[in-house]
Amino acid sequence: MTQEQLQFLRAIPIEDLASRLGLDVRHHKALCPFHNDHHASLSFNVRKNTYRCFVCDAHGDTIDLVRHLLNKDFQQACLYLSDGSIEPIPAHSTHSPHSPHETRHTFDASRYAHFFDRPYLSPEARRFLFDQRRLDPRVIRWCRLTSWRDRQGIHWLQIPYYDPDGNLIGLQNRNLTPGAEPRFRFPKGAHCSIYNLPILNLLKENEPLYIAEGASDCWALLSAGHKAIAIPSATLLKKDDLQPLLTINSKLLTQFHMYPDRDLPGERLFLQLKELLPNLQHHQLPPDCKDYSDLYLQSHLNGY
Ligand SMILES: [Zn+2]
Repeated sequence: MTQEQLQFLRAIPIEDLASRLGLDVRHHKALCPFHNDHHASLSFNVRKNTYRCFVCDAHGDTIDLVRHLLNKDFQQACLYLSDGSIEPIPAHSTHSPHSPHETRHTFDASRYAHFFDRPYLSPEARRFLFDQRRLDPRVIRWCRLTSWRDRQGIHWLQIPYYDPDGNLIGLQNRNLTPGAEPRFRFPKGAHCSIYNLPILNLLKENEPLYIAEGASDCWALLSAGHKAIAIPSATLLKKDDLQPLLTINSKLLTQFHMYPDRDLPGERLFLQLKELLPNLQHHQLPPDCKDYSDLYLQSHLNGY
């Protein structure tokens, strides 16, 4: 890349770029994505075309912003910026005073993807995952779980959904306050049909794959050393969503396994999946376990 090309990339309007990368830019300021910010500490210098955070001192130009926000090296960041195929900035993502209440109906992954580049687990999240659920930290890292606190001070666990190629397709927020409502929250348009699809790439021939009913049972299965995915809502599931499973079934002779929850929806999901995956095997949970997480916790406490 020549000096001239670099100058061109550094001259891309930084506030437009920041908006395109998902930051909410208002009055030359935004919430800093590089620390847990609540006060729009990131400022843009429009004249120099740079940014700086007054709290964590993150700073730089357009190339630095892409490097740090999207976890790319210098070369990749330059390619990203010079790639003509990047979607132009949609009109509603820049804030004009005439359209303050634009709503989005499709999931804008670029707005959220950077949350999971450097996952952060709050003490509340760590207590939930490691003290209460006894999950394996390697599993939590693989799943890129992160946490945040909203304006009401409620702690949330943020659970990303990826397609088999690792592209963010949706996310789910789980309330960490015991007994609180709502327990889950999804951004508009999030596509949360099958959880943990990237594991399919690690699956070997003949290796069993477990199907859980929710992300937390999926973490328990993974922590127990199984390869697992989850189907959190059979009602949201479209036939096309199951295509990756049908593909590995025929390519790798994958044997599917399931511990259905001890309730009607659990057994219904099993029967529904059994029609599409005839070799799906049913495992019975013991009477004192309502789901696989219970069983995992029980065997963990018994020292297995
Ligand atoms: Zn900062």
